[in-house]
Amino acid sequence: MISYDQLFIGGIWRSPAGNDTIDVVSASSEQLIGSVPEATGADVDLAVEVARAAFLDPEGWPAWSPQRRADVLDRFADELEKRSEQTIYTIAQENGMPISIARALEKDSPALLVRYYAGLVRSQAREDIRPGVWVASTSVRTYPIGVVAAIVPWNVPQTLTFTKLAPALAAGCTIVIKPSPETALDSFFIAEAALAAGIPEGVISILPGGRELGAYLVSHPGIDKVAFTGSTEGGRAVAQACARLLRPVSLELGGKSAAVILDDLDLDIEKIGQQLFAATLANNGQVCFLGTRVLAPRHRYNEVIEAMSAIMSSAPVGDPLDETTLIGPLASSRQQERVSGYINRGINDGARVIVGGKGRPLGLDRGWYVKPTLFADLDNNAAVAREEIFGPVLCVIPYDGDDDAVRIANDSEFGLGGSVWSGDSGRALSVADRILSGTVGINGYAPDPYAPFGGIKASGIGREMGIEGLASYQRQKSIYSF
Ligand code: NAD
Repeated sequence: MISYDQLFIGGIWRSPAGNDTIDVVSASSEQLIGSVPEATGADVDLAVEVARAAFLDPEGWPAWSPQRRADVLDRFADELEKRSEQTIYTIAQENGMPISIARALEKDSPALLVRYYAGLVRSQAREDIRPGVWVASTSVRTYPIGVVAAIVPWNVPQTLTFTKLAPALAAGCTIVIKPSPETALDSFFIAEAALAAGIPEGVISILPGGRELGAYLVSHPGIDKVAFTGSTEGGRAVAQACARLLRPVSLELGGKSAAVILDDLDLDIEKIGQQLFAATLANNGQVCFLGTRVLAPRHRYNEVIEAMSAIMSSAPVGDPLDETTLIGPLASSRQQERVSGYINRGINDGARVIVGGKGRPLGLDRGWYVKPTLFADLDNNAAVAREEIFGPVLCVIPYDGDDDAVRIANDSEFGLGGSVWSGDSGRALSVADRILSGTVGINGYAPDPYAPFGGIKASGIGREMGIEGLASYQRQKSIYSF
Protein backbone atom coordinates (compact mmCIF):
# COMPACT_ATOMS: atom_id res chain seq x y z
CA MET A 1 0.00 0.00 0.00
CA ILE A 2 1.20 3.47 -0.86
CA SER A 3 -0.22 5.99 1.51
CA TYR A 4 0.33 9.72 1.88
CA ASP A 5 -1.56 12.01 4.24
CA GLN A 6 -0.03 15.30 3.16
CA LEU A 7 0.04 17.29 -0.07
CA PHE A 8 3.12 18.70 -1.78
CA ILE A 9 2.37 22.42 -1.94
CA GLY A 10 5.10 24.81 -2.96
CA GLY A 11 7.83 22.25 -2.37
CA ILE A 12 6.74 21.47 1.21
CA TRP A 13 4.63 18.62 2.58
CA ARG A 14 1.60 20.25 4.18
CA SER A 15 -1.69 19.10 5.68
CA PRO A 16 -4.48 19.27 3.12
CA ALA A 17 -7.27 21.80 3.58
CA GLY A 18 -9.99 19.13 3.24
CA ASN A 19 -10.57 15.63 4.59
CA ASP A 20 -11.33 13.68 1.42
CA THR A 21 -8.98 11.06 0.05
CA ILE A 22 -8.45 9.52 -3.38
CA ASP A 23 -8.37 5.73 -3.17
CA VAL A 24 -6.47 4.18 -6.06
CA VAL A 25 -7.35 0.62 -7.06
CA SER A 26 -5.38 -1.79 -9.20
CA ALA A 27 -6.75 -1.93 -12.74
CA SER A 28 -6.14 -5.69 -12.84
CA SER A 29 -7.14 -6.89 -9.37
CA GLU A 30 -9.59 -4.11 -8.40
CA GLN A 31 -7.86 -4.11 -4.98
CA LEU A 32 -6.93 -0.92 -3.16
CA ILE A 33 -3.26 -0.11 -3.80
CA GLY A 34 -2.95 3.27 -2.14
CA SER A 35 -4.49 6.53 -1.12
CA VAL A 36 -3.59 10.20 -1.11
CA PRO A 37 -5.41 13.34 0.02
CA GLU A 38 -7.75 14.88 -2.53
CA ALA A 39 -6.85 18.52 -3.03
CA THR A 40 -9.48 21.25 -2.73
CA GLY A 41 -9.86 24.80 -3.97
CA ALA A 42 -8.20 26.07 -0.78
CA ASP A 43 -5.10 23.97 -1.56
CA VAL A 44 -5.05 25.43 -5.08
CA ASP A 45 -5.31 28.95 -3.63
CA LEU A 46 -2.30 28.31 -1.39
CA ALA A 47 -0.28 26.61 -4.15
CA VAL A 48 -0.88 29.50 -6.56
CA GLU A 49 -0.08 32.06 -3.88
CA VAL A 50 3.27 30.47 -3.02
CA ALA A 51 4.03 29.88 -6.73
CA ARG A 52 3.42 33.60 -7.43
CA ALA A 53 5.51 34.66 -4.48
CA ALA A 54 8.38 32.43 -5.68
CA PHE A 55 7.98 33.73 -9.21
CA LEU A 56 8.09 37.38 -8.09
CA ASP A 57 10.93 36.90 -5.57
CA PRO A 58 13.83 38.99 -6.96
CA GLU A 59 16.20 36.23 -5.82
CA GLY A 60 13.84 33.34 -6.60
CA TRP A 61 13.91 30.49 -9.14
CA PRO A 62 13.20 32.65 -12.24
CA ALA A 63 15.95 35.07 -11.22
CA TRP A 64 18.55 32.30 -10.89
CA SER A 65 20.99 32.00 -13.75
CA PRO A 66 19.98 29.28 -16.23
CA GLN A 67 23.18 27.44 -15.27
CA ARG A 68 22.23 27.38 -11.59
CA ARG A 69 18.71 26.15 -12.40
CA ALA A 70 20.10 23.55 -14.77
CA ASP A 71 22.44 22.19 -12.08
CA VAL A 72 19.48 21.62 -9.76
CA LEU A 73 17.52 20.07 -12.63
CA ASP A 74 20.34 17.60 -13.26
CA ARG A 75 20.08 16.55 -9.60
CA PHE A 76 16.31 16.28 -10.05
CA ALA A 77 16.90 13.91 -12.99
CA ASP A 78 19.20 11.78 -10.80
CA GLU A 79 16.54 11.59 -8.09
CA LEU A 80 13.86 10.65 -10.62
CA GLU A 81 16.05 7.84 -11.91
CA LYS A 82 16.46 6.46 -8.39
CA ARG A 83 12.67 6.13 -8.20
CA SER A 84 11.97 5.03 -11.77
CA GLU A 85 11.47 1.29 -11.12
CA GLN A 86 9.08 1.99 -8.25
CA THR A 87 7.32 4.50 -10.48
CA ILE A 88 6.67 2.15 -13.38
CA TYR A 89 5.52 -0.68 -11.10
CA THR A 90 3.03 1.72 -9.54
CA ILE A 91 1.79 2.94 -12.93
CA ALA A 92 1.32 -0.63 -14.18
CA GLN A 93 -1.01 -1.24 -11.24
CA GLU A 94 -2.78 2.12 -11.41
CA ASN A 95 -3.70 2.20 -15.08
CA GLY A 96 -2.98 -1.33 -16.34
CA MET A 97 0.00 -0.39 -18.54
CA PRO A 98 1.98 -3.60 -19.15
CA ILE A 99 5.27 -3.35 -17.29
CA SER A 100 7.40 -3.90 -20.42
CA ILE A 101 5.54 -1.02 -22.09
CA ALA A 102 5.82 1.15 -18.95
CA ARG A 103 9.58 0.55 -19.12
CA ALA A 104 9.60 1.92 -22.68
CA LEU A 105 7.12 4.78 -22.26
CA GLU A 106 7.53 5.96 -18.68
CA LYS A 107 10.82 4.86 -17.13
CA ASP A 108 13.52 6.98 -18.75
CA SER A 109 11.65 9.89 -20.28
CA PRO A 110 11.15 11.99 -17.09
CA ALA A 111 14.90 12.23 -16.37
CA LEU A 112 15.71 12.48 -20.06
CA LEU A 113 13.33 15.43 -20.56
CA VAL A 114 14.64 17.19 -17.45
CA ARG A 115 18.27 16.85 -18.59
CA TYR A 116 17.39 17.83 -22.16
CA TYR A 117 15.70 21.10 -21.14
CA ALA A 118 18.42 21.83 -18.56
CA GLY A 119 20.93 21.50 -21.41
CA LEU A 120 18.90 23.74 -23.71
CA VAL A 121 18.69 26.64 -21.25
CA ARG A 122 22.36 26.32 -20.38
CA SER A 123 23.21 27.15 -23.98
CA GLN A 124 20.29 29.47 -24.84
CA ALA A 125 21.11 33.16 -25.25
CA ARG A 126 18.84 35.28 -23.05
CA GLU A 127 19.29 38.30 -25.27
CA ASP A 128 19.40 38.89 -29.01
CA ILE A 129 20.55 42.35 -30.09
CA ARG A 130 19.02 43.29 -33.45
CA PRO A 131 19.92 46.29 -35.57
CA GLY A 132 16.94 48.61 -35.88
CA VAL A 133 15.09 50.34 -38.73
CA TRP A 134 13.59 53.24 -36.73
CA VAL A 135 15.72 52.66 -33.64
CA ALA A 136 19.46 52.24 -33.11
CA SER A 137 19.03 48.67 -31.88
CA THR A 138 16.59 46.38 -30.09
CA SER A 139 17.42 44.03 -27.25
CA VAL A 140 15.05 41.06 -27.59
CA ARG A 141 15.01 39.39 -24.19
CA THR A 142 13.53 36.07 -23.14
CA TYR A 143 11.72 35.58 -19.81
CA PRO A 144 9.83 32.74 -18.15
CA ILE A 145 6.11 33.02 -18.86
CA GLY A 146 5.06 32.90 -15.19
CA VAL A 147 3.00 30.59 -13.00
CA VAL A 148 1.93 27.51 -14.96
CA ALA A 149 -1.09 25.24 -14.40
CA ALA A 150 -0.44 21.75 -15.78
CA ILE A 151 -3.34 19.32 -16.18
CA VAL A 152 -2.34 15.72 -16.83
CA PRO A 153 -4.33 12.61 -17.87
CA TRP A 154 -3.92 9.08 -16.51
CA ASN A 155 -2.78 7.22 -19.62
CA VAL A 156 0.96 8.06 -19.67
CA PRO A 157 1.08 10.07 -16.46
CA GLN A 158 4.82 10.56 -15.94
CA THR A 159 5.92 11.46 -19.45
CA LEU A 160 2.92 13.76 -19.93
CA THR A 161 3.77 15.51 -16.67
CA PHE A 162 7.39 15.97 -17.72
CA THR A 163 6.61 17.32 -21.20
CA LYS A 164 5.27 20.27 -19.19
CA LEU A 165 7.25 20.27 -15.94
CA ALA A 166 10.72 19.93 -17.49
CA PRO A 167 10.55 22.88 -19.94
CA ALA A 168 8.57 25.01 -17.46
CA LEU A 169 11.21 24.57 -14.74
CA ALA A 170 14.10 25.06 -17.14
CA ALA A 171 12.52 28.28 -18.41
CA GLY A 172 12.27 29.56 -14.81
CA CYS A 173 8.51 29.15 -14.31
CA THR A 174 6.81 27.97 -11.16
CA ILE A 175 4.12 25.33 -11.60
CA VAL A 176 1.01 23.76 -10.10
CA ILE A 177 0.37 20.25 -11.43
CA LYS A 178 -3.00 18.50 -11.28
CA PRO A 179 -2.60 14.76 -11.88
CA SER A 180 -5.61 12.56 -12.60
CA PRO A 181 -7.12 10.71 -9.63
CA GLU A 182 -6.55 7.33 -11.38
CA THR A 183 -2.76 7.87 -11.32
CA ALA A 184 -2.37 10.08 -8.27
CA LEU A 185 0.13 7.76 -6.53
CA ASP A 186 3.03 7.96 -8.98
CA SER A 187 2.85 11.77 -8.99
CA PHE A 188 3.89 11.78 -5.32
CA PHE A 189 7.23 10.21 -6.26
CA ILE A 190 7.90 13.34 -8.33
CA ALA A 191 7.38 15.40 -5.17
CA GLU A 192 9.91 13.26 -3.28
CA ALA A 193 12.45 13.60 -6.07
CA ALA A 194 11.97 17.38 -6.23
CA LEU A 195 12.49 17.70 -2.49
CA ALA A 196 15.60 15.50 -2.54
CA ALA A 197 17.04 17.50 -5.46
CA GLY A 198 16.69 20.81 -3.62
CA ILE A 199 14.20 22.49 -5.92
CA PRO A 200 13.41 25.60 -3.87
CA GLU A 201 10.20 26.42 -2.04
CA GLY A 202 7.23 27.66 -3.98
CA VAL A 203 8.32 26.21 -7.31
CA ILE A 204 6.35 22.93 -7.58
CA SER A 205 2.94 21.91 -6.23
CA ILE A 206 1.21 18.61 -6.98
CA LEU A 207 -2.53 18.62 -6.31
CA PRO A 208 -4.46 15.50 -7.32
CA GLY A 209 -8.17 15.91 -7.95
CA GLY A 210 -10.91 15.64 -10.53
CA ARG A 211 -12.32 17.85 -13.27
CA GLU A 212 -13.79 20.47 -10.94
CA LEU A 213 -10.42 21.01 -9.30
CA GLY A 214 -8.83 21.23 -12.76
CA ALA A 215 -11.41 23.79 -13.88
CA TYR A 216 -10.82 25.83 -10.71
CA LEU A 217 -7.05 25.81 -11.27
CA VAL A 218 -7.34 26.73 -14.98
CA SER A 219 -9.44 29.83 -14.17
CA HIS A 220 -7.46 30.89 -11.09
CA PRO A 221 -6.48 34.58 -11.32
CA GLY A 222 -2.87 33.82 -10.34
CA ILE A 223 -2.14 31.54 -13.32
CA ASP A 224 -0.23 32.87 -16.36
CA LYS A 225 -0.33 29.82 -18.67
CA VAL A 226 -2.24 26.55 -18.89
CA ALA A 227 -0.84 23.32 -20.33
CA PHE A 228 -3.56 20.69 -20.76
CA THR A 229 -3.41 17.11 -21.97
CA GLY A 230 -6.67 15.20 -22.10
CA SER A 231 -9.83 14.63 -24.07
CA THR A 232 -11.00 16.97 -26.81
CA GLU A 233 -14.13 17.66 -24.75
CA GLY A 234 -12.05 18.65 -21.71
CA GLY A 235 -9.75 20.69 -23.95
CA ARG A 236 -12.68 22.69 -25.33
CA ALA A 237 -13.81 23.57 -21.80
CA VAL A 238 -10.27 24.61 -20.85
CA ALA A 239 -9.88 26.62 -24.07
CA GLN A 240 -13.15 28.46 -23.37
CA ALA A 241 -12.00 29.41 -19.87
CA CYS A 242 -8.63 30.57 -21.22
CA ALA A 243 -10.27 32.54 -24.05
CA ARG A 244 -12.34 34.48 -21.54
CA LEU A 245 -9.23 35.28 -19.53
CA LEU A 246 -6.98 35.81 -22.59
CA ARG A 247 -4.65 33.23 -20.99
CA PRO A 248 -2.08 31.37 -23.10
CA VAL A 249 -2.95 27.69 -23.35
CA SER A 250 -1.51 24.61 -24.99
CA LEU A 251 -3.83 21.69 -25.66
CA GLU A 252 -2.78 18.10 -26.38
CA LEU A 253 -6.05 16.32 -27.13
CA GLY A 254 -7.56 13.22 -28.69
CA GLY A 255 -6.75 11.41 -31.91
CA LYS A 256 -7.94 8.88 -34.47
CA SER A 257 -4.86 8.49 -36.58
CA ALA A 258 -4.35 6.35 -39.66
CA ALA A 259 -1.70 3.66 -40.17
CA VAL A 260 -1.37 3.69 -43.96
CA ILE A 261 -0.03 0.42 -45.39
CA LEU A 262 1.25 1.15 -48.91
CA ASP A 263 0.89 -1.56 -51.53
CA ASP A 264 4.64 -2.24 -51.78
CA LEU A 265 5.07 -3.16 -48.12
CA ASP A 266 6.67 -6.50 -47.30
CA LEU A 267 4.13 -7.54 -44.67
CA ASP A 268 6.46 -9.88 -42.83
CA ILE A 269 5.29 -9.69 -39.24
CA GLU A 270 8.51 -11.29 -38.03
CA LYS A 271 10.22 -8.12 -39.26
CA ILE A 272 7.66 -5.38 -38.61
CA GLY A 273 5.10 -6.93 -36.23
CA GLN A 274 6.57 -5.27 -33.14
CA GLN A 275 6.61 -1.84 -34.79
CA LEU A 276 3.05 -2.27 -36.04
CA PHE A 277 1.92 -3.30 -32.56
CA ALA A 278 3.60 -0.26 -30.97
CA ALA A 279 2.06 2.11 -33.53
CA THR A 280 -1.49 0.78 -33.19
CA LEU A 281 -1.99 -0.97 -29.83
CA ALA A 282 0.57 0.21 -27.27
CA ASN A 283 -0.64 0.72 -23.69
CA ASN A 284 -3.84 -1.26 -24.28
CA GLY A 285 -4.85 1.20 -26.98
CA GLN A 286 -4.85 4.06 -24.46
CA VAL A 287 -2.48 6.40 -26.28
CA CYS A 288 -3.66 9.48 -28.13
CA PHE A 289 -1.43 9.06 -31.22
CA LEU A 290 -2.13 5.42 -32.09
CA GLY A 291 -3.00 4.54 -35.69
CA THR A 292 -6.31 2.90 -34.88
CA ARG A 293 -7.54 3.10 -38.49
CA VAL A 294 -5.39 0.70 -40.49
CA LEU A 295 -5.69 1.64 -44.16
CA ALA A 296 -5.08 -1.28 -46.52
CA PRO A 297 -4.71 -1.35 -50.34
CA ARG A 298 -7.89 -3.06 -51.58
CA HIS A 299 -6.04 -5.77 -53.49
CA ARG A 300 -4.09 -6.68 -50.33
CA TYR A 301 -7.01 -6.20 -47.92
CA ASN A 302 -7.20 -9.83 -46.74
CA GLU A 303 -3.46 -10.01 -46.31
CA VAL A 304 -3.44 -6.89 -44.09
CA ILE A 305 -6.37 -8.25 -42.06
CA GLU A 306 -4.48 -11.53 -41.58
CA ALA A 307 -1.31 -9.73 -40.49
CA MET A 308 -3.13 -7.45 -38.01
CA SER A 309 -5.10 -10.41 -36.75
CA ALA A 310 -1.90 -12.38 -36.14
CA ILE A 311 -0.32 -9.41 -34.33
CA MET A 312 -3.37 -8.87 -32.16
CA SER A 313 -4.19 -12.46 -31.31
CA SER A 314 -0.60 -13.37 -30.47
CA ALA A 315 -0.25 -10.50 -27.96
CA PRO A 316 -0.54 -11.96 -24.45
CA VAL A 317 -3.43 -10.37 -22.51
CA GLY A 318 -3.16 -10.44 -18.73
CA ASP A 319 -1.57 -9.12 -15.57
CA PRO A 320 0.27 -5.86 -16.33
CA LEU A 321 3.01 -6.83 -13.85
CA ASP A 322 3.82 -9.96 -15.85
CA GLU A 323 6.84 -9.20 -18.10
CA THR A 324 5.30 -11.17 -20.97
CA THR A 325 1.96 -9.30 -21.01
CA LEU A 326 1.49 -6.99 -23.97
CA ILE A 327 -2.15 -6.02 -23.38
CA GLY A 328 -3.40 -5.33 -19.87
CA PRO A 329 -6.68 -4.09 -18.45
CA LEU A 330 -8.06 -0.64 -19.17
CA ALA A 331 -7.47 2.05 -16.59
CA SER A 332 -10.91 2.16 -14.96
CA SER A 333 -14.39 0.68 -15.01
CA ARG A 334 -15.49 3.86 -16.83
CA GLN A 335 -12.96 3.11 -19.60
CA GLN A 336 -14.03 -0.54 -19.71
CA GLU A 337 -17.66 0.50 -20.17
CA ARG A 338 -16.75 3.07 -22.81
CA VAL A 339 -14.62 0.67 -24.88
CA SER A 340 -17.12 -2.21 -24.53
CA GLY A 341 -19.80 0.21 -25.74
CA TYR A 342 -17.77 0.89 -28.89
CA ILE A 343 -17.17 -2.83 -29.49
CA ASN A 344 -20.95 -3.38 -29.33
CA ARG A 345 -21.51 -0.38 -31.55
CA GLY A 346 -19.14 -1.74 -34.22
CA ILE A 347 -20.91 -5.10 -34.18
CA ASN A 348 -24.37 -3.49 -34.32
CA ASP A 349 -23.22 -1.31 -37.22
CA GLY A 350 -22.39 -4.47 -39.17
CA ALA A 351 -18.60 -4.63 -38.96
CA ARG A 352 -17.01 -8.08 -39.27
CA VAL A 353 -15.27 -9.16 -36.07
CA ILE A 354 -11.90 -10.69 -36.97
CA VAL A 355 -10.48 -10.89 -33.44
CA GLY A 356 -12.14 -10.37 -30.04
CA GLY A 357 -15.65 -8.98 -29.77
CA LYS A 358 -18.03 -8.69 -26.84
CA GLY A 359 -17.24 -9.84 -23.31
CA ARG A 360 -14.14 -10.36 -21.20
CA PRO A 361 -11.02 -12.27 -22.27
CA LEU A 362 -11.20 -15.90 -21.13
CA GLY A 363 -9.98 -16.50 -17.56
CA LEU A 364 -9.76 -12.82 -16.64
CA ASP A 365 -12.73 -12.41 -14.33
CA ARG A 366 -11.46 -9.43 -12.39
CA GLY A 367 -10.02 -6.14 -13.59
CA TRP A 368 -11.09 -3.75 -16.32
CA TYR A 369 -10.29 -6.05 -19.25
CA VAL A 370 -11.89 -6.05 -22.70
CA LYS A 371 -11.10 -8.36 -25.58
CA PRO A 372 -8.65 -6.75 -28.03
CA THR A 373 -10.88 -6.40 -31.09
CA LEU A 374 -10.18 -6.14 -34.80
CA PHE A 375 -12.95 -4.96 -37.13
CA ALA A 376 -13.08 -5.31 -40.92
CA ASP A 377 -15.66 -4.65 -43.67
CA LEU A 378 -16.49 -1.16 -42.57
CA ASP A 379 -15.74 2.21 -44.09
CA ASN A 380 -14.37 5.41 -42.66
CA ASN A 381 -17.88 6.69 -41.84
CA ALA A 382 -18.55 4.06 -39.15
CA ALA A 383 -18.64 5.46 -35.60
CA VAL A 384 -15.80 3.10 -34.59
CA ALA A 385 -13.69 4.56 -37.41
CA ARG A 386 -14.47 8.20 -36.62
CA GLU A 387 -14.58 8.50 -32.84
CA GLU A 388 -11.70 8.08 -30.44
CA ILE A 389 -12.25 4.77 -28.58
CA PHE A 390 -9.10 4.75 -26.40
CA GLY A 391 -8.84 0.99 -26.09
CA PRO A 392 -7.44 -2.01 -28.01
CA VAL A 393 -9.86 -1.73 -30.91
CA LEU A 394 -8.69 -1.40 -34.53
CA CYS A 395 -10.49 -1.08 -37.87
CA VAL A 396 -9.01 -2.20 -41.18
CA ILE A 397 -10.36 0.03 -43.98
CA PRO A 398 -9.69 -0.59 -47.69
CA TYR A 399 -8.50 2.11 -50.13
CA ASP A 400 -7.84 2.40 -53.88
CA GLY A 401 -4.50 4.08 -54.65
CA ASP A 402 -2.28 6.46 -52.67
CA ASP A 403 -4.52 9.50 -53.24
CA ASP A 404 -7.48 7.62 -51.81
CA ALA A 405 -5.39 6.53 -48.81
CA VAL A 406 -4.45 10.16 -48.14
CA ARG A 407 -8.08 11.26 -48.56
CA ILE A 408 -9.30 8.69 -46.01
CA ALA A 409 -6.45 9.40 -43.58
CA ASN A 410 -7.38 13.10 -43.67
CA ASP A 411 -11.12 12.50 -43.42
CA SER A 412 -11.13 12.88 -39.62
CA GLU A 413 -11.91 15.61 -37.14
CA PHE A 414 -8.54 14.80 -35.52
CA GLY A 415 -4.94 15.37 -36.67
CA LEU A 416 -2.44 14.09 -34.14
CA GLY A 417 -0.37 11.15 -35.39
CA GLY A 418 -0.27 8.62 -38.19
CA SER A 419 2.15 6.29 -39.87
CA VAL A 420 3.07 5.23 -43.39
CA TRP A 421 4.42 1.73 -44.10
CA SER A 422 6.32 1.09 -47.30
CA GLY A 423 9.45 -0.48 -48.77
CA ASP A 424 10.22 2.81 -50.51
CA SER A 425 11.16 5.59 -48.07
CA GLY A 426 10.81 8.35 -50.70
CA ARG A 427 7.28 7.28 -51.54
CA ALA A 428 6.41 6.94 -47.84
CA LEU A 429 7.77 10.43 -47.20
CA SER A 430 5.65 11.95 -49.96
CA VAL A 431 2.52 10.29 -48.52
CA ALA A 432 3.54 11.40 -44.98
CA ASP A 433 3.89 14.97 -46.34
CA ARG A 434 0.23 14.98 -47.37
CA ILE A 435 -1.20 13.69 -44.09
CA LEU A 436 -2.90 16.43 -42.10
CA SER A 437 -1.51 15.87 -38.63
CA GLY A 438 1.14 17.16 -36.26
CA THR A 439 3.32 14.04 -36.46
CA VAL A 440 3.76 11.03 -38.76
CA GLY A 441 6.02 7.97 -38.49
CA ILE A 442 7.54 6.01 -41.35
CA ASN A 443 7.63 2.25 -40.78
CA GLY A 444 7.00 2.82 -37.08
CA TYR A 445 5.80 5.50 -34.71
CA ALA A 446 7.31 7.01 -31.56
CA PRO A 447 7.29 10.66 -30.50
CA ASP A 448 10.87 11.81 -30.05
CA PRO A 449 11.72 14.19 -27.18
CA TYR A 450 13.93 16.35 -29.43
CA ALA A 451 11.14 17.06 -31.94
CA PRO A 452 7.89 19.02 -31.50
CA PHE A 453 4.83 16.90 -30.76
CA GLY A 454 1.22 18.05 -30.96
CA GLY A 455 -1.91 18.08 -33.01
CA ILE A 456 -3.96 20.08 -35.46
CA LYS A 457 -7.75 20.27 -35.83
CA ALA A 458 -9.53 18.71 -32.81
CA SER A 459 -6.23 17.19 -31.62
CA GLY A 460 -5.04 20.43 -30.10
CA ILE A 461 -3.12 23.66 -30.23
CA GLY A 462 0.58 24.16 -29.56
CA ARG A 463 3.57 21.86 -29.33
CA GLU A 464 5.35 20.00 -26.55
CA MET A 465 8.89 18.60 -26.63
CA GLY A 466 11.79 19.88 -28.72
CA ILE A 467 12.91 23.50 -28.50
CA GLU A 468 9.35 24.42 -29.44
CA GLY A 469 8.23 22.94 -26.11
CA LEU A 470 10.58 25.29 -24.25
CA ALA A 471 9.36 28.32 -26.22
CA SER A 472 5.81 27.82 -24.93
CA TYR A 473 7.04 28.54 -21.38
CA GLN A 474 8.89 31.69 -22.40
CA ARG A 475 7.90 35.19 -23.49
CA GLN A 476 9.90 37.85 -25.25
CA LYS A 477 10.22 41.55 -24.62
CA SER A 478 11.75 44.01 -27.08
CA ILE A 479 13.67 46.88 -25.51
CA TYR A 480 14.30 49.63 -28.10
CA SER A 481 17.38 51.82 -27.78
CA PHE A 482 17.75 55.19 -29.46
P1 NAD B 1 -10.01 13.97 -19.60
O1 NAD B 1 -10.16 15.16 -20.48
O2 NAD B 1 -11.22 13.41 -18.98
O3 NAD B 1 -9.06 14.34 -18.36
C1 NAD B 1 -7.70 14.76 -18.55
C2 NAD B 1 -7.29 15.62 -17.38
O4 NAD B 1 -7.99 16.85 -17.46
C3 NAD B 1 -7.64 15.04 -16.02
O5 NAD B 1 -6.64 15.44 -15.09
C4 NAD B 1 -8.97 15.70 -15.69
O6 NAD B 1 -9.24 15.75 -14.32
C5 NAD B 1 -8.77 17.08 -16.29
N1 NAD B 1 -9.97 17.76 -16.77
C6 NAD B 1 -11.02 17.24 -17.45
N2 NAD B 1 -11.91 18.20 -17.75
C7 NAD B 1 -11.39 19.36 -17.29
C8 NAD B 1 -11.82 20.71 -17.32
N3 NAD B 1 -12.97 21.07 -17.86
N4 NAD B 1 -11.02 21.65 -16.76
C9 NAD B 1 -9.84 21.31 -16.20
N5 NAD B 1 -9.39 20.05 -16.11
C10 NAD B 1 -10.15 19.08 -16.66
O7 NAD B 1 -9.19 12.90 -20.39
P2 NAD B 1 -8.80 11.45 -19.88
O8 NAD B 1 -9.94 10.55 -20.13
O9 NAD B 1 -8.20 11.50 -18.53
O10 NAD B 1 -7.58 11.12 -20.89
C11 NAD B 1 -7.78 10.53 -22.11
C12 NAD B 1 -7.81 11.58 -23.21
O11 NAD B 1 -6.57 12.30 -23.23
C13 NAD B 1 -7.95 10.97 -24.58
O12 NAD B 1 -8.88 11.71 -25.32
C14 NAD B 1 -6.56 11.11 -25.17
O13 NAD B 1 -6.51 11.13 -26.56
C15 NAD B 1 -6.09 12.38 -24.58
N6 NAD B 1 -4.63 12.43 -24.59
C16 NAD B 1 -4.01 13.27 -25.46
C17 NAD B 1 -2.62 13.31 -25.53
C18 NAD B 1 -1.90 14.24 -26.46
O14 NAD B 1 -0.71 14.45 -26.24
N7 NAD B 1 -2.54 14.79 -27.47
C19 NAD B 1 -1.88 12.48 -24.71
C20 NAD B 1 -2.55 11.63 -23.85
C21 NAD B 1 -3.92 11.62 -23.79
